[in-house]
Amino acid sequence: MGNPRPEVIIDGKAAAAILADKITADVAELRWETGLVPGLAVVLVGDDPASAVYVSSKHRQTVAAGMASFEHRLPMETTEDDLLALIERLNGDPAVHGILVQLPVPPQIDAGAVLNAIEPGKDVDGFHVLNAGSLATGQEALVPCTPLGCLMLLKERLGDLSGLHAVIVGRSNIVGKPMAQLLLSENGTVTIAHSRTRDLATICRSADILVAAVGQPEMIRGDWIRPGAVVIDVGINRVTQEGKPRLVGDVAFAEAAHAGAITPVPGGVGPMTIACLLSNTLTAFRRSLQA
Ligand code: NDP
Repeated sequence: MGNPRPEVIIDGKAAAAILADKITADVAELRWETGLVPGLAVVLVGDDPASAVYVSSKHRQTVAAGMASFEHRLPMETTEDDLLALIERLNGDPAVHGILVQLPVPPQIDAGAVLNAIEPGKDVDGFHVLNAGSLATGQEALVPCTPLGCLMLLKERLGDLSGLHAVIVGRSNIVGKPMAQLLLSENGTVTIAHSRTRDLATICRSADILVAAVGQPEMIRGDWIRPGAVVIDVGINRVTQEGKPRLVGDVAFAEAAHAGAITPVPGGVGPMTIACLLSNTLTAFRRSLQA
């Protein structure tokens, strides 16, 4: 037990910066070749402060990569019909190659209906049922950004993932399930655990790769981690510790000294998520040039 040594900590910020630099260079080259740039439209409904921070950060990084950024901030009382009308406009806009609707949306709007209204080729979040189905059946898809970023970090650390036992705690459509599909496609042996799983600690201890995407602060204790296992902590939990607001993950980081590698919170998976959004926008742009 104790804090992981520095060499064990996976620096997601540095990995994201390397990926963003590569994307920026590719965007400049494509602009020179075609006179066009990838365009990302981000739609925010309402004034949730955390969502507003994410949207501003996405805008900043999109512009920094040389892409066009289109921000649509709509009032809290926006109707589903109005939002669907905007999506339809963006679907038909040739300057827009990626569309992202920031979640959560207000209760009068059915998030599933909105996500499935996005043209699948512009669905840079990878949440459209067609992209989810394509990923599950091994066909070309736009892959959800967070699990895509996690996979990149894992491959960078471990290289070949064949035969490794990956335990994913969490089965959401946006993290757990696509993470499982990606690890399966890399020939991992995958276990998906969730709130009804029995003896979670024992299952976690059998993992070579442990991905926590739960949303429960520091739920995964140090003695759930097998010595040498690689731990990816997706959780972002806002807590108050010693009277101060702090962000912590789903893993008790200070008990993970024996992990083979571990992502910190913040500075692990989070930065990779936005870099992968830029990567997906570039992918969607490239595919539009081939269409
Ligand atoms: P969801 O709430 O949609 O899913 C949580 C999952 O965890 C569910 O499958 C749930 O099980 C499972 N779970 C909850 N409690 C337990 C428990 N006690 N034991 C075992 N399993 C449990 O969350 P998301 O997948 O959207 O996000 C997970 C975390 O990742 C959150 O902290 C979120 O903030 C963070 N996140 C971070 C991102 C990043 O960029 N770093 C991006 C997206 C999310 P069941 O299905 O049975 O209810």
